[in-house]
Amino acid sequence: MKKFHAYQCSICQTIYEPQDIFYTCPHDGGNVDVLLDDETLKKFPLVDHITSSRDFSIWRYLPLLPVLDPGFETTPLRSVGWTPVYESHRLSQQSGLQQLWIKDDGRNPTASFKDRASAVVVARAREIGAEVVVTASTGNAGAALAGMAAACGQKAIIFAPKTAPPAKIAQLLVFGAQVILVDGNYDQAFDLSVQASQEFGWYCRNTGYNPFTAEGKKTAAFEIWEQVMFENDDLKERLNVFVSVGDGNIISGLHKGFKDLKALGLIDELPRIVGVQSEGSSAIANAFEKGTETIEPVHATTLADSISVDLPRDGLRALRAATQTEGAYIKVKDQDILNAIAALGKVGVFAEPAGATAYAGVLHAKQTGLIGAHDPVLCMITGSGLKDVNAAMKAVPQAQIIEPSMAALKKIL
Ligand SMILES: *Cc1c(COP(=O)(O)O)cnc(C)c1O
Ligand SMILES: [Zn+2]
Repeated sequence: MKKFHAYQCSICQTIYEPQDIFYTCPHDGGNVDVLLDDETLKKFPLVDHITSSRDFSIWRYLPLLPVLDPGFETTPLRSVGWTPVYESHRLSQQSGLQQLWIKDDGRNPTASFKDRASAVVVARAREIGAEVVVTASTGNAGAALAGMAAACGQKAIIFAPKTAPPAKIAQLLVFGAQVILVDGNYDQAFDLSVQASQEFGWYCRNTGYNPFTAEGKKTAAFEIWEQVMFENDDLKERLNVFVSVGDGNIISGLHKGFKDLKALGLIDELPRIVGVQSEGSSAIANAFEKGTETIEPVHATTLADSISVDLPRDGLRALRAATQTEGAYIKVKDQDILNAIAALGKVGVFAEPAGATAYAGVLHAKQTGLIGAHDPVLCMITGSGLKDVNAAMKAVPQAQIIEPSMAALKKIL
């Protein structure tokens, strides 16, 4: 089966042949969407093929991905995705929502949602015979690329700000990538990595630049469809999907996934998509509030490093993910993010700050009446708390230290 037939620019709508471009639109720098061959796919017994698959990973959706089967069975590359969905009675009570699902993407091989994108980009890199894959990253995209590349013996080079949390830098190094720490912010690392990839001919994975990242990320929408929407009699109202937003590529990928499902006739209506940003890094939420598609850069300051972005690289599509689904954008305070880490922890889910941000948004949306008690909500947790232990320690009281004696123990109990 032909895997995809064209790209389309999200700004000027120009259509490009697969061999004509690698990254963004040459006219206006717009992000391009990968167009699937809907007509061919409609003739294929998709639902049966997917729902009877025994492959519990993103690769169960291979017919809907623009890459060929990458091989490397029984490696971490093949265990990305199909992350668990939880329902917690206590979390529902706390949030005042009758139907609340938590999807924990911290359970991916390198512990973040970014594995979905990196797995598909590495598959693409091998298809086009790339020798080196490079990315700029606040940490997770790099760790994911390094891990997926390691799984298939592919060379990877990662540019990250030198301020990235140590656990993320450790992952890069342990996975054997060449690590370049930039004495600057993520945006500067991004620009440098693009220049380097052009000069040295490296294949560039950058978020909001390489069209295959959103294709990998859309698999989360397919999973939400299968795990929550498909034949779920409990789901009477339209689902609301909450997700944290930095560059805006995860939310764009989710939107693309739901659009693919609709184009194939597998769902009638897209869920509402709600993007959540930190007040300190809210370029897209600002544009949503103003009702404009012009996204002004901010000077980002938030403890949620994975969503700390001055100029979102996939801002336009990210904005449309909300405006075209009757969704919304919400801003939350860093303190609300820390509270969300603690609340999720109490039901056994450990999230990094950007991972818990969506749940902070859920609570905010309920309090302000954006969603009501009967509205079904799925909250994406995008990264594991082990990624940033310093931030986690700010979310909870310190442990007590005592002398090793029963007397000392009894004093504090
Ligand atoms: C990258 C990332 C995000 C945000 O994704 P964008 O595509 O940049 O919007 C959110 N949470 C975590 C844990 C991430 O690593
Ligand atoms: Zn264009």
